Amino acid sequence: MKNKMATIVIGAGAAGMIAAWRAASLGAEVILLEKNSKLGIKILISGGGKCNITHGGNVETLRQQFQINEARFLKYAFHTFTNTDLLQQLKEYGVETYERDNGKVFPMSHKAGDVVHALRRMMEKAGVDIRLNSSVTEILKDESGIYGVKVNQEILETKSVIVAVGGTSFQKTGTTGDGYSWAMQLGHALVPIRPALAPIFLLPKPPAEWQGTPIRDCLLMAKSNTTTISQWGGDILFTHVGISGPATLEVSRKAYVEFEKGNLITMCVDFFPELTIEEIDQKILTETMKSGAKQTVTLIEQFVPQKLGPHILQQAKVNEIKKLHQLGKQERRSLSETLKNCSIGTVKEIPLDGGEVTAGGIDLREVKPATMESKLVKGLFFCGEILDVAGPVGGYNLQAAFSTGFVAGESASKI
Ligand SMILES: Cc1cc2nc3c(=O)[nH]c(=O)nc-3n(C[C@H](O)[C@H](O)[C@H](O)COP(=O)(O)OP(=O)(O)OC[C@H]3O[C@@H](n4cnc5c(N)ncnc54)[C@H](O)[C@@H]3O)c2cc1C
Repeated sequence: MKNKMATIVIGAGAAGMIAAWRAASLGAEVILLEKNSKLGIKILISGGGKCNITHGGNVETLRQQFQINEARFLKYAFHTFTNTDLLQQLKEYGVETYERDNGKVFPMSHKAGDVVHALRRMMEKAGVDIRLNSSVTEILKDESGIYGVKVNQEILETKSVIVAVGGTSFQKTGTTGDGYSWAMQLGHALVPIRPALAPIFLLPKPPAEWQGTPIRDCLLMAKSNTTTISQWGGDILFTHVGISGPATLEVSRKAYVEFEKGNLITMCVDFFPELTIEEIDQKILTETMKSGAKQTVTLIEQFVPQKLGPHILQQAKVNEIKKLHQLGKQERRSLSETLKNCSIGTVKEIPLDGGEVTAGGIDLREVKPATMESKLVKGLFFCGEILDVAGPVGGYNLQAAFSTGFVAGESASKI
């Protein structure tokens, strides 16, 4: 039997679309309101347009990629709508997928648009009333609970609202953080909003000739004085203002926490994560025995991207014109130490808008993990990135949005 009043879902991202589909599949009348003129804009730009839909690992490993409180909160949702459930569902709607060696799952077509298309068809089949260009400005509540939402100056009556409006990064995609103020007006506490999976702007700016240069398989470290506050192994890429690339994105969240306290954060690169300083020293020594007349900078440029050679020598305080056989023991040691811990600048800014996800958001302690309903307001549900949940790169964030959306849709359909 249909509900007398429609369930309203705000936001047609991964979380909102799955929530709308699930609620409608269970017989609820559902209206999905999206401010943009098309569905799933963030899915369309995800994974560089290829959409890393989820991760192929077992559910528990996926869950454990999140911070402890987030992982605890996600347990029910991740087990209720798993990565396998998601892929099976998408397959039924024509999206074949494959898993890479690192566990990342992509559509076989490499087209994020295919995922959005499948979600649209799922919703249409379930009878969701999809309304684009519909910007919600307010959620209305009285003593007995939710009674409506204000959209394009009109009031739509409802007893259940699913807030799936995402975070506040990449604002051009529509995620302008609208849900945070609604939640606060409705009595919810917010965990401070911070960038995550974001690029890092450096001081000084990297030299122009480094721009576009990658450092592969390094260990990137964010240090406050000499203490490492965050580190990640992988690739980084120099941009015109700083660094980006997978390792940078992963380090950014914890680095920001220290940065906002006013601490000076130095970004350092270990070019040889697998080797000790002594082993690097030995490598240089072996090369010196073999070809002592070689310029030191030439050897260093065999170890690191060419354009960085002079920077390494300068930081190690070794004269650029020195040949290998002219290096003293101390100079060799200094080079080895610099290759293990080379400063590339201090943090100038970690932009919130540049983050692939927003950390912080609706305090998880105020949301029921088995329903996604607010513990404070009956009929109010949250799912997706608006929650204080932010995982690493690898398909984890979309999975979190899909799983929490599924649970929210299922629970809201019962109101
Ligand atoms: C560049 C980039 C690449 C990414 N790549 C990946 C990836 O490959 N894999 C992965 O797992 N994660 C990836 N992510 C993260 C992932 O896309 C998000 O975590 C996820 O899309 C969040 O889903 P959501 O449904 O919660 O929110 P969103 O997808 O952000 O959807 C929220 C929707 O709500 C709408 N909205 C906002 N306010 C209102 C309002 N007032 N009224 C009506 N509608 C409103 C917005 O327009 C938006 O469409 C990427 C993110 C970015 C920015």
